[in-house]
Amino acid sequence: MSASGSAKKWVCVFCASAAGASPVYIEAAHELGRWIAERGYGLVYGGATVGAMGAVADAALAAGGEVVGVIPDVIREREIDHKGLTELRVVHTMHERKAMLAERADAFVALPGGYGTMDEFIEIVTWAQLKIHAKPCVLVNVHGFWDGLLAFLDQCVADGFILAENRGLVQVARDPEEALAIVERTWREQAEVPAHDERLDAVVR
Ligand code: AMP
Repeated sequence: MSASGSAKKWVCVFCASAAGASPVYIEAAHELGRWIAERGYGLVYGGATVGAMGAVADAALAAGGEVVGVIPDVIREREIDHKGLTELRVVHTMHERKAMLAERADAFVALPGGYGTMDEFIEIVTWAQLKIHAKPCVLVNVHGFWDGLLAFLDQCVADGFILAENRGLVQVARDPEEALAIVERTWREQAEVPAHDERLDAVVR
């Protein structure tokens, strides 16, 4: 059973509202959207048409996938809400957006991005650390984009701010195909050893 209550699994993608300086970033967004649809999963994301966000949604739709977007009313103009989605949920705040994305998803995959992408991904890893959820959290390290962040996480462990046992909450893939392989492997492992503390279900609502 997926987080949304149906048998279908949903993958949340956090990614940039910009296209990035190199075409490799939009290519990775297309590839991830296509892979999600082709593996039979739904895509849930920020609901925009701009940058990598639009690319991941367009690619999933083009491959026949279902795509749900969640966008705050006040930023619909700036990020240009996608009119062709399976479902567009309009919320009031960024916090509602993140909570709805988190609830709907069975896994989280982040492509390269800026403050918004980092905020969303690190928050969802923090919720995993608190055992609010036990869903896979994967960074797609396109052309080593996340190497600096990964080195910083190692420094946080060395300096005693992240427990070594929690370092593995951030999983790393070389490309979108590997990201989905990691997600699927984590789901299989979790079917054997459940890791979620249900007492914390209401903490982020
Ligand atoms: P960026 O990586 O900065 O291009 O942002 C990517 C996406 O994250 C955009 O859709 C932003 O609106 C979104 N975003 C930025 N900050 C937040 C936040 N605090 N909560 C939820 N989404 C955010």
